[in-house]
Amino acid sequence: MKPLGPIPPGYDADAEGRLLIGGHDVTALIGQAGDTPLFAYDLGMVARRVEQLRAAMPAGLEIHYAIKANPFAPLVAAMARMVDGFDVASDGELARAIDAGMAADRISFAGPAKKARELEAAIRAGATINLESEHEADRALSIGEALGLPPRLAVRINPEFELRGSGMRMGGGAKPFGVDQARVPALVRRIVDAGADYRGLHIFAGSQSLDRDAIIETQANSVALARVIDQETGTRAPLVNLGGGFGVPYFAGDVALDVEVIGAALAEQVGDEASRYAIELGRWLVAEAGVYLARVVDRKESHGKVFLVTDGGLHHQLAASGNFGTVVRRNYPVAVATKFGAEPEEEASVVGCLCTPLDRLADDAMLPRADAGDVIAVFLAGAYGATASPAAFLGHPAPHEITISPESAVILT
Ligand SMILES: *Cc1c(COP(=O)(O)O)cnc(C)c1O
Repeated sequence: MKPLGPIPPGYDADAEGRLLIGGHDVTALIGQAGDTPLFAYDLGMVARRVEQLRAAMPAGLEIHYAIKANPFAPLVAAMARMVDGFDVASDGELARAIDAGMAADRISFAGPAKKARELEAAIRAGATINLESEHEADRALSIGEALGLPPRLAVRINPEFELRGSGMRMGGGAKPFGVDQARVPALVRRIVDAGADYRGLHIFAGSQSLDRDAIIETQANSVALARVIDQETGTRAPLVNLGGGFGVPYFAGDVALDVEVIGAALAEQVGDEASRYAIELGRWLVAEAGVYLARVVDRKESHGKVFLVTDGGLHHQLAASGNFGTVVRRNYPVAVATKFGAEPEEEASVVGCLCTPLDRLADDAMLPRADAGDVIAVFLAGAYGATASPAAFLGHPAPHEITISPESAVILT
């Protein structure tokens, strides 16, 4: 038997034992969406996450959403009304952010290898470009000159420090992201002298950290670094984006972050200047609000083991299969959604519909008995799910996606 990850708080069963998402039972949601496999996102839960974070963080601190975690248009549109800014990483995401109604001067565009087309789109729209290199600065300045529009530019720093215990490190040492710390003051001076609209600094040191003290230390380092760069350049960064890296508990034994303690520590760091700072989060805001639902097509036994063979799989939810940035495969939280109230009674493995042994959604898990027709729920599917998975692999259809709004209108794709 292998343990399952912890089911996020806030999920219950109805009287028939069916999982409720945003107050709707899974059978009704699947009926409205048309079929499985289905990603269902509870916007009420997203709103409660944003509220919890706002209450925890120093008053005035900006909260930004990194669209790559979940770019589903209805979710992004709802998010535009909840947060203070969006972080985008392609012209596709930039267009989605603008369509969602976010003001362009609240959108920042980070990411390596920005194409000329993308720099131009950002400058025309008035979004902030988070520069990843000196060469990118030159390109943005010359495109701005050709358009007759001073570009809005911020500098992404590759800091000397990194976010300890982070699932994916994005700072410290040689990195393709940002400009090495020591070269940042000269670049800030250059863009200011060139007449660009200098928007500030961006420090993103890692992702998926559950280490509260490491996050506090990284934020303190980032605030201190921004102050040093202000001093060295004789400028004042209008906004300092401190990144994020807040993780969520995916696996057995993981413990949720205490954002209240992180917020209190950050309040001490920023003092009465909180409104000069932003944090940008993806996963922490949306992961728990999403559930991936797949139907059991076949129940079979092999060498004494039970396999629940579903119509879903790693082509939609790669991360749950253990093939997206994890070294050792461990089980996500998984449940039988049509028997959510029931006690576990047998050991079963949940697999997907792809012809590869990699396509596993749960290994040797204790579950209530499930048969063909039952629905399996894979939790923590709200971030890095549908668009972070190889949907074209093996030619199955794309998953359905729906958002459930607190007003209980269900928005379909
Ligand atoms: C991916 C990314 C994020 C979001 O990271 P999460 O771990 O989902 O919070 C934020 N900022 C930048 C620059 C990113 O690349």
